Amino acid sequence: MPEAKFRPDDNLEITVEAKSQKDLFWGLAEVQEVFGKEPCMICGNKDTKFFVRTVKNDDGEFEFPERKCNSPKCNASLSYSLNKKGGTMYPVRKTTEGKWDNQFKGWKKFVPGQYDKAPVEE
Ligand SMILES: [Zn+2]
Repeated sequence: MPEAKFRPDDNLEITVEAKSQKDLFWGLAEVQEVFGKEPCMICGNKDTKFFVRTVKNDDGEFEFPERKCNSPKCNASLSYSLNKKGGTMYPVRKTTEGKWDNQFKGWKKFVPGQYDKAPVEE
């Protein structure tokens, strides 16, 4: 049974098990897309962490998975979303206009009270 260990950094190791080479490839692709090493695209800081932001409003309580920049001066984040099929996650790299964010790759500055995932214009 094929197996691979994926180590995006010194503190994280993910084991991907699969029934076939093809499944292993698919599994690695999913893991790399979400957990792969990625610096903050706003300030360039390589120290980022996974974070789940909880927001309560009139419609209920919502959780937003994010990768956050650990620089207190920056505090930018990259949002993740769930694929309807399969329950896998992916980083949100498009703007609210549906275009690829080629400049910041989906990273944006946090604005208090914001929960609609709208990118912030600098
Ligand atoms: Zn940053």
